[in-house]
Amino acid sequence: MRDYSNRNSVWLDTQFEYLTHLPCFWCNKLLTRGRSTVDHVIPSYLDSMVEENRVVCCKQCNNERSKISSLASDLRKPNIIWGRGRITKWFAKRDEVRPLLHYYRQQIQLKLDVHMQMYCLNEINLILRLPKNYFSDKTSQK
Ligand SMILES: [Zn+2]
Repeated sequence: MRDYSNRNSVWLDTQFEYLTHLPCFWCNKLLTRGRSTVDHVIPSYLDSMVEENRVVCCKQCNNERSKISSLASDLRKPNIIWGRGRITKWFAKRDEVRPLLHYYRQQIQLKLDVHMQMYCLNEINLILRLPKNYFSDKTSQK
């Protein structure tokens, strides 16, 4: 397995080689090297071009974006057992994250080209447009 965290750290060093501050890709907050993290515009689980879609990102945005990815990846697990408690928790998490979903959807439409948008909006749209009976349909099949 490739060591992405070290590669990311080297990549960040090169971004800050001539600059003391860089803006967060998403929220534009100015960051020092020590406060910067690497975000993958296309989530790393969709891989294929992990190295080419890195951006400098603040810890807060990175954290918020990973909440979105984890909600979306729950939906992609084919054999998951969606018990009632789990479903309730999932929807509670989505409601909590809903303002973030709208914020990042807006940022994605503003900042990315059409090709990148297609990948990035996919997971957000998946979560937002999920019909209310999505899980009950699945659980009623057993
Ligand atoms: Zn940020």
